[in-house]
Amino acid sequence: MKKLPITELDSFLKSLNMPVYLPSDDPSGQAKFTRWAEGVQLTQQLNTVRSAKDLFFPQMENLVDFKVQDQKIEIIEHRNVSENFVIFGVRACDAAAFEILDRVFLSDPVDGYYKERRDHALIVTMACSAPEETCFCTAFGIDAADPKGDVTAWKTEDSFFFRANTGKGEKLIAGLADGDESAVQAQQAQTREILSKLPNGKLDLTGFDGAHMMEKFNDSRWKELSEACLGCGTCTFVCPTCQCYDVREFNTGDTIQRFRCWDSCMYSDFTKMSAGQPRPTQLERFRQRFMHKLVYFPDNNDGVYGCVGCGRCLQKCPIHMNIVKVAKTIGGEGNG
Ligand code: SF4
Ligand code: SF4
Repeated sequence: MKKLPITELDSFLKSLNMPVYLPSDDPSGQAKFTRWAEGVQLTQQLNTVRSAKDLFFPQMENLVDFKVQDQKIEIIEHRNVSENFVIFGVRACDAAAFEILDRVFLSDPVDGYYKERRDHALIVTMACSAPEETCFCTAFGIDAADPKGDVTAWKTEDSFFFRANTGKGEKLIAGLADGDESAVQAQQAQTREILSKLPNGKLDLTGFDGAHMMEKFNDSRWKELSEACLGCGTCTFVCPTCQCYDVREFNTGDTIQRFRCWDSCMYSDFTKMSAGQPRPTQLERFRQRFMHKLVYFPDNNDGVYGCVGCGRCLQKCPIHMNIVKVAKTIGGEGNG
């Protein structure tokens, strides 16, 4: 275990000699991952509004340009080689979300754009010390007091404590002084005590599996659950595990630019085809989002759910609908 006084964080980050992204408050007070430079402060808030997934899977990125001249097509690649970079302060839920995204983007056919960034990233997670009522990571077996990553960090009143989990992580913190684990253990005990009392921490997900797929799909309560949904897509844009995107082309006048941007299964034109719309009403679109996270994804991924209990959709949905309400309405009997 290594130790660093909080007052020395800036000099430590500077000594890393590579880009570092950390959660910092923007002028409107919202925490977001920001490239560190002197003066950029680590947020005091529990988590960012949008997750660190943006650093691997940006909201919009150019893939390739096509330039047509004299009946020849020039292809201009945007697949730049990344430099190593550090993401500092990722919470346990968001670190677990990377593993879910990996299952999508790194399985055959591998997404080269995502992989390039993933291979060059060093992840320093930050244990939680004050989880909020909207958190329910424990329902997915995630320990917010001991997150994964190349390095795990704990922040106490005056110091950071770091533990390396990989060879890359060991190199990153090799120059720091040794520290005593007792402060970390005390914080972990306190955090786990809070986690054990959170209202949704024991969310019962029994029955959300492939064996009950049609029973869940045909449940008549999707109608009342989806009735007020605005189809705004906020829940998908703040979600660290949502990974749907659209690929489009734009004529700049000089080139044809092919780009991809996040899409949302909650939108009325999502999956719309020339033959029609397979999900014609919000009921089907709403059901798709939750069936994907709670039934289809685990059915195809060794039982791993497509949710990490970060609580963002509980905080941000304008009509106060969220995955917990869905799981409680349609899910396991243990939800009371
Ligand atoms: S569930 Fe809520 S956040 Fe998601 S699309 Fe519907 S209204 Fe918007
Ligand atoms: S569905 Fe909601 S709680 Fe689950 S990971 Fe996405 S935003 Fe977080």
